[in-house]
Amino acid sequence: MSIEKIVSLCKRRGFVFQSSEIYGGYGAVYDYGPLGIELKNKISQLWWKSMTQLHDNIVGLDSGILMHPKIWKASGHVDAFNDPLVDCKQCKARFRSDELVSEETSATDWSSLQCPKCGTKGSLTEPRQFNLMFKTHIGPIENESNTAYLRPETAQGIYVNYLLTQNAMRLKIPFGIAQIGKAFRNEIVARNFIFRTREFEQMEMQYFIKPENDDKSMEYWKNERYNFYSLIGIDSNKIRLTEHGPNELAHYAKEAWDIEYKFPFGWSEVEGIHNRTDFDLRMHQEHSGKKMEIFDQESNHRYLPYIIETSAGLNRMMLSVLSNAFWEDTDNNRIVMKLHPKIAPVTAVVCPLTKKDGLPEIGKAIIDILKPNFKIIYDQQGSIGKRYYRQDEAGTPFGITVDHQSKEDDTVTIRDRDTQTQERIEISNLLKVMKRKIEDYT
Ligand code: ATP
Repeated sequence: MSIEKIVSLCKRRGFVFQSSEIYGGYGAVYDYGPLGIELKNKISQLWWKSMTQLHDNIVGLDSGILMHPKIWKASGHVDAFNDPLVDCKQCKARFRSDELVSEETSATDWSSLQCPKCGTKGSLTEPRQFNLMFKTHIGPIENESNTAYLRPETAQGIYVNYLLTQNAMRLKIPFGIAQIGKAFRNEIVARNFIFRTREFEQMEMQYFIKPENDDKSMEYWKNERYNFYSLIGIDSNKIRLTEHGPNELAHYAKEAWDIEYKFPFGWSEVEGIHNRTDFDLRMHQEHSGKKMEIFDQESNHRYLPYIIETSAGLNRMMLSVLSNAFWEDTDNNRIVMKLHPKIAPVTAVVCPLTKKDGLPEIGKAIIDILKPNFKIIYDQQGSIGKRYYRQDEAGTPFGITVDHQSKEDDTVTIRDRDTQTQERIEISNLLKVMKRKIEDYT
């Protein structure tokens, strides 16, 4: 299955659009249509709940995209948030050199390599370092002294607020702070649809612990995060945890694991779980001159906590969900988005069999019953078969049809998206039946 098929369905059904399409598109930026925003919201709400509701020691935060530029100096992003860039002198294509060579061949003689795009040998330049942060200026004058950056990760907003948060909420170690928000990176090679974009959303949770508990905590969060993917309907054979080798570790990390999904273009990272030690807090303490230590009442001493970070890309997670759900049901000549009903953008479509005889009125009354609980849409356009197939592509798990019998005995049929089977149930039972089907879905 190719990524192009997903891209095309996403456009056709209103999940994802290329940004600024009427101007020819804008590189590596995407807009989320009516179904896309529902799906994205549902995924992020499940994440938020899994963090801040199911863990009573994790609280939320929403920090600014713009922050004091010294934060990015302290974090190492100004000096070290670089990708090595290689150009082809022949065809002008641009690559990340770390993606061109594997670990073993990293001491590469660039002049002997062939350009992967045009195939010319010896056309690649030596790698140059390229900072990924977007710069802007605060105020009317553009100069070095008022440079600001769009945040390249949400994590730093958590670190600089961690003591304020801890005090306000009277938190005791271990505790976590969760945040969902936009991040920006001037990616050199942006590709694979919403997998790598210049503007994206992160769902990050920073867990503050005693340094000696780092291995135990790492183990806990690896499991916890891995298990989350079955909650959003990802097949277990398409998800795996892999550890970073010593040469792949980021400057702040002692240990790092990726959760990878088997995308149509291969296994790729969706989420990172990192032991960041006390690196970030120590750097902010040095650069701000403010104590970042926490006071431990039990042992009566101050220390810098260690941090286990779980950092997921919401858009990448959504792409894994879309890829996982895409099903070409060739037997029935239809495409189905087999989304888990918990995250499907629309939970049910209500279809009156005809536009007359009072059936639309019954349909609308059913929507009124269901809409406080679920996102429901109404469709009376075209043949019933076509209406169902439209919703199969949208991933809508249930089709509720109002027919002439409904008028006689207050029943409707409910159609299952995956099996296409229909059963007749009483309207007064609809809500209960739908809730049960969603809970039982595998
Ligand atoms: P990559 O190696 O793919 O560039 P990374 O290791 O730099 O990713 P992190 O800095 O660990 O990524 O960011 C955490 C998460 O944020 C990633 O797992 C990914 O899901 C998401 N993310 C990072 N960069 C992008 C991007 N350009 N577009 C979409 N999501 C991104």
